[in-house]
Amino acid sequence: MSTILPIRHQPPLPLDRLILRDPPSAEAIELDVLIVGAGPAGLACAIELARLVKRDQEGGGGMPDLSIGVLEKAGSLGEHNLSGAVVNPRAFRELFPELQLADFPFRQPVPEEAVYFMTRRRAQRIPTPPTMHNTGFYTASICEMVRWLGERAEGLGVNLFAGFPADALLVEGNAVRGVRTTPTGLDRDRRPGANYAEPTDLTARVTVVAEGTRGLLGQAWREWQRVGSPNPQLFALGVKELWEVKRPLDAVIHTLGWPLPTDAFGGSFMYPLGATQVAVGLVVGLDYHDARLDVHELLQRMKLHSLFRRQLEGGQLLEWGAKTIPEGGYYALPGRRSGDGVLFAGDTVGFVDVPSLKGIHYAMQSGMYAARATFAALKGEDVSEAALTAYDRMVDESYIVADMWRTRNMRLAFKDGLYVGGVKAGLMSLTAGRFPGGRIAMAEDAKAPRTTSPAQPFMPDGALTFSKVDAVFKSGNATRDTIPSHLVVGENVTGEVADFYSHLCPAGVYERVGDELRVNAPNCVDCKATDVLGPRWTPREGGSGPKYRAM
Ligand SMILES: Cc1cc2nc3c(=O)[nH]c(=O)nc-3n(C[C@H](O)[C@H](O)[C@H](O)COP(=O)(O)OP(=O)(O)OC[C@H]3O[C@@H](n4cnc5c(N)ncnc54)[C@H](O)[C@@H]3O)c2cc1C
Ligand code: SF4
Repeated sequence: MSTILPIRHQPPLPLDRLILRDPPSAEAIELDVLIVGAGPAGLACAIELARLVKRDQEGGGGMPDLSIGVLEKAGSLGEHNLSGAVVNPRAFRELFPELQLADFPFRQPVPEEAVYFMTRRRAQRIPTPPTMHNTGFYTASICEMVRWLGERAEGLGVNLFAGFPADALLVEGNAVRGVRTTPTGLDRDRRPGANYAEPTDLTARVTVVAEGTRGLLGQAWREWQRVGSPNPQLFALGVKELWEVKRPLDAVIHTLGWPLPTDAFGGSFMYPLGATQVAVGLVVGLDYHDARLDVHELLQRMKLHSLFRRQLEGGQLLEWGAKTIPEGGYYALPGRRSGDGVLFAGDTVGFVDVPSLKGIHYAMQSGMYAARATFAALKGEDVSEAALTAYDRMVDESYIVADMWRTRNMRLAFKDGLYVGGVKAGLMSLTAGRFPGGRIAMAEDAKAPRTTSPAQPFMPDGALTFSKVDAVFKSGNATRDTIPSHLVVGENVTGEVADFYSHLCPAGVYERVGDELRVNAPNCVDCKATDVLGPRWTPREGGSGPKYRAM
């Protein structure tokens, strides 16, 4: 049995493609502030900034109107957003103090909650760990939240550019000056076709990058500016399904244990979304050891367990999707998240508290801080790193970093497996993070060696369990077949490595054919797992990928 070290087969980040020193084109769209990514972080930033300007003007502060633009790679808002989700409403309350809780785009308050330890046949209820309490929170669809936030942003005069993926940062010296978007209408060989449209340059005095998990621009900027972190960022892959069900689910449910092997970190969730819908998902750390581990397939097996089966049986799969989560925590936060003309907010920085599986309110809050720092910098006519570093201070002094500090070693403890990790995590909870002291050092996920376990064939039944082909159909992905591949494959991809990629990718993009790797790029749902462990993901034509409606 041979061992695969994913990093050996992974190409480096294409830095010369992502950091462009070319002057912007003469037709560049000029904005004051450009926000990349219309997720909770980007939209909260846009709303807060537009409001600050309005308030300043009403108070006679003299701030001129600002042109604020938000770029989004999905064809329309929400289509590339996927979450659980149980939402802590704290950031919504701060952003919209004039609204009531009932006005927010949530589905329902969290009713009961229950945590189970699972074995293949049993589900043993265990006490809810302190980090997993959700009383006072709300279940929601992130697609719906994003569309709602988008409407508020537009109402405040923000320009939303959906279907425009940022392909590269435009830089001058050390400063970020804007972005270049991807071209559209290229054929498989990258030749312009009938519907070809050139890339567009957008320039801005401040660019706020809120591109979400495993952000490419953020990776490139940190490498270019040599911004490090004590530990590398770690990731988990979440595969999620939305079901129409016959009977309402009466609790927010989390599980640990089966179907994961004991040396993998992760767990599942099942959330009620009103009387007739349920979200079910499985999240697995990408430092798992078994080269055959397949998160999509594990989720399918998991649904056959009585805990899930009795809830889902007789219902209907509405949507399927996948996305990674940055889960390195406090020690993976980059040393700075601001530079000349640029700020980074939300998941691209890694503002996620893994033990509670929460990122939405941190993303929104960091977006609001980015707006406040941007506003002050524009008012002072100084968008240098020295001025924008106010953002880092706001974040460092906020509950975002305080919460992440409390759980700083919790995810890291699980590198020793479920049982040892579970005991350590319990002690960490009891001591508010003081045990074990210091930092547990981690290597990046791609440096964890993989060995192959014996195959355990699985046949989906098409009623409760589904193949990857059916799953991609349910993601709404209808990317044209003639699109050029946006996945950069490394060298030395053996048959075994191709096999590993085929299990890694939840959307069936990779296939082993003989000893070769076949890449079905249009299937990609932009979960970014491949960018963590395999071929590099790069932005492609706007509007490609999934079309989530209520994930
Ligand atoms: C399975 C799963 C379950 C989760 N459960 C919960 C939960 O219950 N509660 C909770 O609080 N959090 C949860 N999270 C985490 C939460 O969803 C994230 O922390 C949150 O969505 C981060 O917001 P964001 O705005 O930073 O990124 P995103 O929500 O990912 O938004 C980023 C946006 O940027 C766009 N984008 C990316 N690249 C480009 C580009 N190059 N050009 C233009 N646009 C681009 C994307 O399409 C996307 O719309 C979960 C995450 C997952 C995956
Ligand atoms: S190819 Fe696309 S869908 Fe598959 S793992 Fe990579 S990013 Fe996810």
